[in-house]
Parts: sequence; C-alpha cells; structure tokens
Amino acid sequence: MQAENTAISIEKVVKNFGAFTALKQVSLQIQNGEFFTLLGPSGCGKTTLLRLIAGFESTSQGKIFLFGDEIENLPANKRPINTVFQHYALFPHMDIRDNIKFGMRMLKFSKQDMDHRADEMLELVQLSHFSQRKPHELSGGQQQRVALARALAPRPKVLLLDEPLSALDLKLRQSMRAELKQIQQETGITFVFVTHDQEEALAMSDRIAVMSAGEVQQVGTPKAIYDQPANSFVADFIGETNLLDATVEQVNQEAMTCCLDNQVRIQCPNSVASDQSQQIKLSIRPERLSFSAPDKALMTGHICQKTYMGTDTQFVVDVGQGLLVKVRAQNNLVSTDELHQGHQVGINIDAAFARVLVN
Ligand code: ATP
Repeated sequence: MQAENTAISIEKVVKNFGAFTALKQVSLQIQNGEFFTLLGPSGCGKTTLLRLIAGFESTSQGKIFLFGDEIENLPANKRPINTVFQHYALFPHMDIRDNIKFGMRMLKFSKQDMDHRADEMLELVQLSHFSQRKPHELSGGQQQRVALARALAPRPKVLLLDEPLSALDLKLRQSMRAELKQIQQETGITFVFVTHDQEEALAMSDRIAVMSAGEVQQVGTPKAIYDQPANSFVADFIGETNLLDATVEQVNQEAMTCCLDNQVRIQCPNSVASDQSQQIKLSIRPERLSFSAPDKALMTGHICQKTYMGTDTQFVVDVGQGLLVKVRAQNNLVSTDELHQGHQVGINIDAAFARVLVN
C-alpha cells in the first residue's frame, strides 16, 4: 500500500552491472513536495538510483512507484520527471528564452502556454532581463539557473538534480543553495537532489538518505542525522565527530554508563539495545566538548594540534592511553588565542549529546 502523500516509493531495488551490485535492496519513500537528498561518498550508488527513477536504466530487482503507479514499463520521456545535470548542457546557439522553451516544444505545449510559462520561469530564476542572451554571455551560476528553469518549465511532478552545484565555485554554490531551496518551496515540486557534500545536504534538505556501498544507512531530517546518527559510518560522514571506543558498564531504561579506554566514565542517554560489558563506540561532536579548569574537568590532557577555522578553533587533545579527542571552541566565547600546543587543559563533555553506536 502506498501512503497517499508519497511521490516516489522505492521498494527493495537491486541494480547489478554484470557481476557488480551497485544497489543492494534499497527501499525509500519520498514525500510529495519534499526536498529529498541522496547523500554519500563517490561510488555509493546515488546517480544509479537517480537514473532508475528517471528511467534511463532499469532495475535488476524490486519496484519503483510514482504517485502509486509502478513505472517499470514507462519510458523516460513519458515519466512526469525531469533532470538537471551537473553539466547543464544548454544549447549554445539558442538564446535563454528558447533554451527554456525547448522541453515544452518537445512536449508540444501551445505557443501561448509556452510563452507564458517561459516568462514565469525567467522571473522565477531572476533572469528576465537576460532572456535574449546566449548561454556564453552568462556566468556559470546564471547558466545553472537557466538549466533549472528549462527543467521546471514543463511542470514536472518530480525534479531530479544530479550534483547541479558542483561545477560552481564555493561562494556561488553557497548562494545557489538558498536559491534552489527557495525555488523548490515556491514551486512545491518534489526535488530529489544528489550530492556527496554533507554541508550542502544539511543546508537544503527536508530529509536526507545517507548511502554507502549501495545501501541506505539512514533516512532522516538533517537534525536527526546529525544529532542521532544510526551508525559509525553516518556519524563520521556527516560533520566531524569523536568516535571513541568504550565498554558498557551499566544500563537502565534511560541511561548508560560507558567507560572509555582512558578509564573515564560517561553517563549518556540510552539510545540502543546493548548489554553490560558490550564494546561500543561513543560518537561525540567536537562542539559538545569544552575546556574547563583541570580540577573541575572530566578528563585532562595536553593540546597537540590547533586549527583556526574563522568562527571556531579546533583542537586535538591527547587525554592519555593514546586517546585523542577533538574539541571545537567558538572564538567569540572562548579565549582560544591563549590556548596553544603543549598546554595542559581540562575537558568536559556534554554527555546528553553523546551517542552510543553498536556498529
Ligand atoms: P559519484 O558521486 O562519484 O557520481 P555515485 O554515488 O553517484 O558516485 P554511481 O555513479 O551510482 O555512484 O555508481 C555506483 C557504482 O556503480 C560505482 O562503483 C560505479 O562504478 C558503478 N557503475 C555505475 N554505472 C555503471 C555501469 N554502467 N556499468 C558498470 N558499473 C557501473
């Protein structure tokens, strides 16, 4: 049964390329009107999944439903789906307006509808005054906006975006993130966005599917993925974290006491089923560790690395038994200028944000 608000339902999809399995039983539900991101390292199968949704490839096993209908036998050009690629491939000899009209012309829109829609799209991407220009007369960011307008013009129900910002420089990429998100909200179209850039995914998505080696590791809101990673892969891939080996000493319904290799004990929320004496990993974000006077600290150590990062400074502190922890301090809140390599420091942990992981 498909939930009423589901735009795309991917059910136990497998994709083999010869003997190689690129997708292993992937299941996902993408809601109508959602900005949904497939995030993962290079080669994890993001583009393959997007190509299956688009209809450029067919599944080896499993099913894909679009608004409740199975689409296996529906050719790519009959699916109410459009794609924006990393290399936006505008037609160089056509002006911007004709580029935007291209898809609609293929779909035999009336001239009136096409003209009206082209105006709407030019306005949406704020390029109305550039409509007569050729693509080479626009910047990279403007060209990407034309590609977006061209893909949105025929009113697809779903827009697939395969690393559309990766050809742009950092500054432009950051401003395009906000624009893209705004356009998605204004149009209400379901966006399925592919990226390997976790910052980009956190900034734009309603929900994210984190993938690794052809499998979905976790699906959730950016906050849930960041604060409550399901496993060590997700904790490590999203942002920075301390992944510390520990042993479970005590467990009750709410809390667990875990002992680190340096014999420091941390009481943190009970987030997974685990038994006494079990070896686990504790994921603690560097910003959840803080400096304090050594006599009031949970543990002490010496600073062995310091990296200035603008608003923050990141420190690596050796806390004994070969255990290195990362501490991130905001420069406007902590006198980070006075903390140098070799200094003895005390460290406290906001244990409410420590996450116990069993795999
Ligand atoms: P990237 O971020 O680098 O684009 P990705 O997560 O999108 O990576 P895919 O392009 O989906 O990864 O590829 C997943 C795996 O499937 C890779 O190991 C890739 O080499 C393999 N693969 C993809 N297409 C084919 C193909 N046509 N034939 C054989 N192997 C393929």
